[in-house]
Amino acid sequence: MKPPPFTYCDPESVGEAVALKSEYGNDSLVLAGGQSLLPMLNMRLARPEALIDINKIGDLQKIERRADILEVGAGVRQYELEDHPLVGELVPLLPEATGHIGHIENRRRGTVGGSLAHADSAAELPCTAVALDATVVVHGPAGTRTIAAQDFFQGWMTTALEPEEVLVAVRYPVTPWTAGHGFVEVARRVGDLALAGAAAVVNLDEEGRFTSVSVGVLGISDTTVRAFAVESALIGEAPTEENIARAAEEIVPSVTSGDDLHATRAYRRHLASVVVSRAITAAVARAHERSN
Ligand code: FAD
Repeated sequence: MKPPPFTYCDPESVGEAVALKSEYGNDSLVLAGGQSLLPMLNMRLARPEALIDINKIGDLQKIERRADILEVGAGVRQYELEDHPLVGELVPLLPEATGHIGHIENRRRGTVGGSLAHADSAAELPCTAVALDATVVVHGPAGTRTIAAQDFFQGWMTTALEPEEVLVAVRYPVTPWTAGHGFVEVARRVGDLALAGAAAVVNLDEEGRFTSVSVGVLGISDTTVRAFAVESALIGEAPTEENIARAAEEIVPSVTSGDDLHATRAYRRHLASVVVSRAITAAVARAHERSN
């Protein structure tokens, strides 16, 4: 399998990349880590006229704290989220979830922006972006746009990116020190895309009741799902096993994936409430650890 012929461009600035994107529009694709795009090219599932390689753009490879925001450049390699001290300190859900992406070889090449732009419904970074209320930053000929993660992912491998735009960064709110986080996924083998998974961030009050719950779920629909019904069922409640299990059932109607090679719909419906329940339980345990 070989890629179709294409014009190769390797801009050294975001402005240059956006200009190329504007010139080629829909006939161009950004090349980041290539972990999804290169197989798609080789299988002829993507036939761009031009490939715009962003690996030389240093401005896309920064991890910075800006007040109560952690800003991660689109070109940051996924493994850096596991290792970078700022990330572990400010948004501890990220290193935990990122470790589930493929194998370390994929994470050393795959980028944060690539995973978000690729928008696979079973991907960990879109799921955590939604659970963390992150904001995606894109540059285009009309300037810069910021898009809430909840609005960015619009369907299977479909995002709010316009053809001439480049994803340049993602901004994560710094997780409050008292909050707990949990990430759980079920995959057939280590490194496989998950059958289902959930990311949760919770806060508890002095009586130990939920004051805030935020849950993203992957692998159950054509895009990552924010579990609003689960969240509202828990606010003000005590984090008992029964309350969490009852609330987790609220995710089941959001399971739209049908039977496929890896799991039946019925199994995914069961799995969805299990991973949501476990992720919230893990987050509660961390919140208790942090408050002691
Ligand atoms: P590319 O492959 O370079 O690009 C992906 C898509 O995003 C392309 O359409 C490209 O045009 C677009 N794009 C990339 N960057 C930008 C940008 N800055 N602006 C606009 N568009 C952009 N992923 C998971 O989430 N979970 C897994 O478990 C997982 N397992 C994997 C296992 C294997 C064996 C392999 C090979 C891959 C796996 N992946 C998994 C996918 C991969 O690791 C990346 O997470 C992801 O696919 C894309 O990252 P990338 O930087 O390689 O992007």
